[in-house]
Amino acid sequence: MQLLLLKDLRDYIGSLLAVSHFRDYSPNGVQVEGRQEVRRIATGVTASQSVLEAATAWGADAIIVHHGYFWRGEDACITGVKKRRIAHLLQHDISLLAYHLPLDAHPELGNNAQLAEHLGFATQGRFGEQDIASYGVLKQAQRLPQLARNIGHTLQRPPLVIGDENSEIIRIAWCSGGGQSYFEQALELGVDAFLTGEISEQNVHVAKETGVAFIAAGHHATERYGVQALGEHLAAHFGLEHRFFDQDNPV
Ligand SMILES: [Zn+2]
Repeated sequence: MQLLLLKDLRDYIGSLLAVSHFRDYSPNGVQVEGRQEVRRIATGVTASQSVLEAATAWGADAIIVHHGYFWRGEDACITGVKKRRIAHLLQHDISLLAYHLPLDAHPELGNNAQLAEHLGFATQGRFGEQDIASYGVLKQAQRLPQLARNIGHTLQRPPLVIGDENSEIIRIAWCSGGGQSYFEQALELGVDAFLTGEISEQNVHVAKETGVAFIAAGHHATERYGVQALGEHLAAHFGLEHRFFDQDNPV
């Protein structure tokens, strides 16, 4: 197996995901520095304690996640949950790398591109802040309940759907994770449905009043695929071992 240094891994991902082009809410790149040589990379959606422990038991040198630490506006002090997580990484000399918006947006490996591939959506364009969200068409028109069943089957989680059961969906917009604030912009695109991870109270009324279906398919469930695709890409490119740790989350 090839010897890979942490800084080379960081630099490669930084240019692959065009990290410097994004204004983000948390730092992209190495958030916690561990050992310098990387042979085994673990991936996960969120750097929760359970993901850290599972990755450590497997022997990971570095863990790559979509949701890392140090979010804008959060308390900067390293106490409580944050202390336990960071202490775990430092004790085991494991690096944590996190990629947020750059991993949503990448045209092949990104959460939105991967979600489209898994759900059979053909991407036609981008919208929303920093072009994070996508729109396009279904491979074939489907009635809303059938589309919801297919999504639930693929994502292994039944979505919460607000919309007319008789509506036929062909044009769709989507944004992985907590993208419910993009619903209004999706309406302007003239789509039949909007899919994201989470839903807010006001989205229900807007969906009913506009006739545009809102599909809340799970924040975790819609963000599983980008970081896995990144891990698989890195494993193939550098000859690393990679394993994805899916700690299921009902939200
Ligand atoms: Zn997210």
